[in-house]
Formats: sequence, structure tokens, C-alpha cells
Amino acid sequence: MSIKDLEKSLKIKKLSGWEKLKSSEKEIFEFSENYKNFLNYAKTERRAFDFILQRAKSCGFKTVDKADKKCKKLIIANRGKSLALVKVGKNSIEKGIKIVVSHLDSPRLDLKQNPLFEDAGVALLRTHYYGGIKKYHWLSIPLSLYATFIKADGEKMEIVIGEEQNDPVFTITDLLPHLSRKSQEDKKLSDAIQGEKLVVVCGGIPILSDEDDSVKEGIKLNILKLLNEKYNLIEEDFLSAEIEMVPSFKAKDVGFDRSFIGAYGQDDRVCAYASMEAFLQSESSDDTIVALFADKEEIGSDGNTGTKARFIEYVVSKILEKYFNTSSEFLLKEILFNSKAISADVNGALDPVYQDVHEKQNAAIIGYGVCVTKFTGSGGKYNANDANAEFVGWIRSILNKSNITWQTGELGKIDEGGGGTVAKFLAEYGMDVIDIGTALLGMHSTFEISSKVDLYETFRAYKTFLNA
Ligand code: MN
Ligand code: MN
Repeated sequence: MSIKDLEKSLKIKKLSGWEKLKSSEKEIFEFSENYKNFLNYAKTERRAFDFILQRAKSCGFKTVDKADKKCKKLIIANRGKSLALVKVGKNSIEKGIKIVVSHLDSPRLDLKQNPLFEDAGVALLRTHYYGGIKKYHWLSIPLSLYATFIKADGEKMEIVIGEEQNDPVFTITDLLPHLSRKSQEDKKLSDAIQGEKLVVVCGGIPILSDEDDSVKEGIKLNILKLLNEKYNLIEEDFLSAEIEMVPSFKAKDVGFDRSFIGAYGQDDRVCAYASMEAFLQSESSDDTIVALFADKEEIGSDGNTGTKARFIEYVVSKILEKYFNTSSEFLLKEILFNSKAISADVNGALDPVYQDVHEKQNAAIIGYGVCVTKFTGSGGKYNANDANAEFVGWIRSILNKSNITWQTGELGKIDEGGGGTVAKFLAEYGMDVIDIGTALLGMHSTFEISSKVDLYETFRAYKTFLNA
């Protein structure tokens, strides 16, 4: 055997997904167009929920309360923020099910419960950031507002401002460089902007009246008047509202060759979209399969719509009750223990400009296919899910059989990086679980970058898993 042949047969060959998938370029770009439409609609977890719910209904899925026993396509929803799509298969359920879990929430700015005030000629809204942000990303960009108000009489009202062409937007001003040397530039990046400084500009015209010109905070009052006229709101309604500020930009192609997609919220809506499509298109599975879309991942999966609320137990219990007439605790445990899951979440791609934070031999490269992350956590694999070699081997074999372009990834250098996903919470049931998702550049920024070919391979990888 020649040295060349030896090299070919022994060494791992990393190949760009574009090279491998030359013949699928048209499908890749079409898939990306639909994904961008999803991103533009689904800028919050509630909107993503809504999109997936409607899409599943259009494919014949029924909510669990409306489905009869013959209907094997279920939607199980959790409070408008998290949901599971279920296909009940022919195979015996105690041997386990297949689950793909992504998350619908992304880092953002929430408004505080008492947000509105006025100072120095400007009406402003106080925010409280949600998830891991770099605060400076949120300065001096157009922001949209997504509000869910629950009024005193229980009426629910949703408001979106900033997405239509003629909508106003909101913004957080930054200090001019002429004045920011001491208050920002001389400080550590993490200290330069405090959380309380993230206040959103929302108005500037005081209330105009003939009677009494001594009204305090006239701009604030004028905004309350506007909100009352248009939406019948009073200031107290903010107390029982969830109002999220997100970047107003639309998803865009990036680059002369349009190879990348730039958009807010791709962590983790890239995996959410890919898993939704993979799930809806996976017709040949005989196993019971579940696409689960979680909330609250960005704040540690705590809360009643997060993975720690054990929604998967509820979902499987519902299936058992509906189709198997049992509520056996043991059977539930048996099923979860024997299940296989993908934690469908993103990873950080090797940043070409900051390569030294990665260990290059084990970092995922953007455009080189879907990223399989054996373990998460940080330091000495603390707080990790670490998939065993047997499960990684099985994943490897099914991905190779379907000719998926895939690579492995880690989240940065051992002593530098780290992070968790929902994987470790699923592992608590004893099921096999591994992280598989798209590698992003600029992850957790307001304009994250994905590769179209990686998106497509992520979709194909999930489909392969669900059908395997
Ligand atoms: Mn994520
Ligand atoms: Mn994240």
C-alpha cells in the first residue's frame, strides 16, 4: 500500500460540507429560506411555540385533549412556552422512545415589572437581562418589543412593536467616546456597562394640556395615555406582563457567496427548526418519537417551563394514559431509562480571529457539518453529560450510514471554556443522551452566524436519528 493510500485509509479527513454536498446546494439554500422566515417570526419563545404549534396542526397533529386514540400524532403543550410533538409508533414502548430536545428561549432583555420612568427629557424602560449576554451588544441597535399582558380581568393581550416596516423601534443609547474614557474604557469589559444601565428609550413628547402645566413626568404620562387609548392599558398592567426586547433586525444572508445566515436567536432556534422539520418529515420510524421544545435553557433550565420541571415525564405519562391505559410509575421509569435522546443545541465554532481560546484539534469548524459534542460541562467535566462510547459509536454508525457531514466539537479550551445544555437533566433518567447541533460564530450575540450547510446537515442528522 502506498503512503498516500495509507493516509487515506487511516487518517480522519475533515471535509467542508459544501464540498461533500455539492449536488444538494439548491435544497440547502431553499431550506435556509424557510429557516429565515421562521427566525423572523419566532423571535421569542412564545412566538416559536406558536409557529411550531401551527405547523404541527397543519401536518395533522392534534392537541392531547382533542385527540382520540386513533390519532397517533400528538401535541402536548406547556403554558405557551414549551411543547412536545409526539408520534406514537408500532414498536413496544417499554423498549424506549427517541427524543430530540431543543430550546426556544434565547438571551434577551426582559422589562422589569415597574419599567417606565422619565428623566432628562426622555421616557425610558428599565430592563433585566435574561441569559448570558455581553451587554455592549445591546447598545445602539434597534430593538423590538414583544409583550404579553394579562389584564386585571384576566384578558390576555399580545403586542408586537418594531417588526413592521413602518413600526417605531426602541433603543439603548451608548455614551459618546468623547466622554466614556473613565466610565467605560478604563474598566474591565464586564464592568463597563452595569445591568441597571440597560434602559430603553421609549418616548420624548410631554403631555400637552391647557389646564395645568405643573404635571410631573409629562412624557411618561403621555406614553401611558397613548397606551391607554390604543390598548386600554394602565400602568398596573405592567405588573402582570412579560415584555421582551429583542433586536429588530431580520435574518440575513451573510457573505458574497451567501454561505452564512446572520440572525438573532439562532441559539437555539437553529436546532429547534431543524428538529421540527426532521420530526415532521420522519415517516418511517416504528419507535415512538418525541420532539421536545424546552424553555428556560438559557437561565439553567429552572422554572416550570424549563427541562428541570420534568416535562418529559409528563409527556410519557400522557402517552401511557392515552394509548396504554396505564399510569404505572415503573413503566414510566423503564421507558425513560431505555430511551435515546439528542440534546439539540448549538456549540461555538472555531472563531477564525480568536483561535487561541479553542483547542483547535477538537473545535468544530463552521461549514464542516453538524457538530457532535460528547460531553458538556466545564473544567474537569464538572456538571457534564458525558455520553458513553457505546452510544457515541451508535450515533457514529447511523450518521455515517446516511452520509451525514459531521464533526466533533468542544466548548473551548479545558480551563477556559465550558457550558451546559439540557443533556444532563435528561441523563438523570438514565437514558442515553448526547449533544448534537449546529456550530455558531458569535454565539449569544445579537447577530449570530450559522452556515447553511451545517443547518441542513443538522436537519438530516436529526432525521436519521429519528428514523434509525
Ligand atoms: Mn443553547
Ligand atoms: Mn445559549
